[in-house]
Amino acid sequence: MRDDTIVSGLQRLEAWLVTGSQHLYGAEVLGLVDEHARDIATSLDVSPDVPVRIVAKPVVPTAEAIATVLREADAAPECVGVIAWMHTFSPAKMWIAGLSSLRKPLVHLHTQFNRDLPWGEIDMDFMNLNQSAHGDREFGFLATRLRVGRKTIAGHWRDPEVARRLGWWTRAAAGWHEAHRLRIARFGDNMRQVAVTEGDKVEAQARFGFAVNGYGVNELTARIDSVPVADVARLVDAYRDAYTVAAELEPGGDRHDELRTAAAIELGLRGFLDDGGFGAFTDTFEDLGSLTQLPGIGVQRLMADGYGFGAEGDWKAAALVRILKVMADGLPGGTSFMEDYTYHLGDPVPEVLGAHMLEVCPSLTSGRPSCEIHPLSIGGRGDPVRLVFDASPGPAIVVGLADLGDRFRLVASAVDLVEPDAPLPQLPVARAVWRPRPDLATAAEAWLTAGGPHHTALTSALGIEPLEDFARIADVELVSTDETTTRAGFERELRWNAPYYYLARRP
Ligand code: MN
Repeated sequence: MRDDTIVSGLQRLEAWLVTGSQHLYGAEVLGLVDEHARDIATSLDVSPDVPVRIVAKPVVPTAEAIATVLREADAAPECVGVIAWMHTFSPAKMWIAGLSSLRKPLVHLHTQFNRDLPWGEIDMDFMNLNQSAHGDREFGFLATRLRVGRKTIAGHWRDPEVARRLGWWTRAAAGWHEAHRLRIARFGDNMRQVAVTEGDKVEAQARFGFAVNGYGVNELTARIDSVPVADVARLVDAYRDAYTVAAELEPGGDRHDELRTAAAIELGLRGFLDDGGFGAFTDTFEDLGSLTQLPGIGVQRLMADGYGFGAEGDWKAAALVRILKVMADGLPGGTSFMEDYTYHLGDPVPEVLGAHMLEVCPSLTSGRPSCEIHPLSIGGRGDPVRLVFDASPGPAIVVGLADLGDRFRLVASAVDLVEPDAPLPQLPVARAVWRPRPDLATAAEAWLTAGGPHHTALTSALGIEPLEDFARIADVELVSTDETTTRAGFERELRWNAPYYYLARRP
C-alpha cells in the first residue's frame, strides 16, 4: 500500500543542482563556486514557483565526481532530476561518462552568479569566476553531441521568469517520477469495438513506466459489499456537507437508499485502490457485474482526491489524468477526465461542450456542486448518483494520448473555458464549455488530422510549457494548437515529425 496514492505535495521531492568546474582555478575559487551554487539553490528553493526542493550538491571538479553524483541522482528515490550549471569552465569530456549513463531528467540552467558586469572594477578575477557564458556553451555542445534531451533555461537566477520556467520543468519531472511508480487498475476491458482507447500496454510501460493490469469487477463488488454501514453513514454526511443534495436523496427522501449505495461504491473503490497501491483506474459500463449503479459520484470524488480515471477502459486517459494531477499539485485550477461531447457551432463563437456520462472531476469548479440522481440509458443498471456543476471559466489545456502503432503521440489544445451561453437546466451531468484557440474549426481539424482521442485530460492548472517539458523528458511526440496555429503549419509539422520519429526511434 502506498502512503501517497492521492496527491500529497511535491515538497517531498528534490531536484539536484550540480555545478561543474575543474581544479585549474585553485581551492579558493572552487570554494566560492560551491558557495554561489548554494545561494542559487536556496533562492530557487524558496521561490513559490518551484514546488520541489532544490538541493545544491558539492561542486564537481573531476570526471569521477561528475559520474558519481549523477549515479547517485539516478538512484535517489526522492530526486526527480538534475539541474546542471557551469559557473566556471568544466571541460566537457569529463561529462561524457556521467551524461551517458544519466537516466533522470536534465535541465541546463544557463545563468551567471553576478547579474551585472562591474564595468568600472572588472578584472581577471571576476572573469575567472563568472565564466558560464562560455562554460555553459562547452556543456551544451557535449550534451547535444551525446543527444541528451534536456530543457535549457537562460537568464539570471533571481529573475522570476527563470524560476517559473524551472518550476514548470520540476513539475514535468515530478510527473515523470510519478509515471514510473504509477499502477493502474482496470475493472473490465475496453468498450467493445472502440479503437482509440486501445493500445500497447507493454510499450506504454517501457516508454512511460506505468503498469496497467486488469481485475475482475467482482473483486471490486466484493470489496464494496464489505464496507461497514457506519462508514457509509459518515460518507453520506460528508456529501451533505459538501454538496447541495437533492431532496429525494436526503435522509427520509424516496431515494436515500440509492445515495447510500453510491457512497458504498465510493468506499469500496477507494479501499480497493488503496489496498493495491493504485493511483488510477478505469471502469466500463459494459462490465458492471453485480454493481447496481455505474460509479458516478465516487469516481468524481476520487479524481478530486488525485486519482486518475478513464471511462470505457481507457487506461491512457487514466494515466494522463493522474500524471497531470501530480504535475499540477498545489496550483489553482483543476484537472479532470474529459470528453469532447457535443458542439455549439453557432453565434457568437463556436464552442465545445465537454462532459461524460457522469465522470467529470469537481476540481474544475469553484462553485458548490449539486448531488443528483437521474436515469442513464446505457449500462443496464439503476440510476447513478452524480455531481452536477459547470466548470469555472479560465484558460486550460485539453490533452490526449494516442497510440499510433509504432509510437505514442500526445495531442494538446489550448482552450478558454467559458460560462455556458445559457443555463443547461435539463443536462444532468457536470460539464465544461470551452473555446479552442485559435478557433474551433482550426483546432478540431488539427486534432482529427493528428488522430487525437475523444477521451482526454482537461487541466486549468497547467499551460503548455510543462507539457512540452514532460514530452521532451519522455521523448514522445507532442503536437499542440494555440492562438498561433495555422492549418498549413500544423499539417507540415505532422508530415515532418513522421520521418523524425521514425529515425529517432529506439532500437
Ligand atoms: Mn467515453
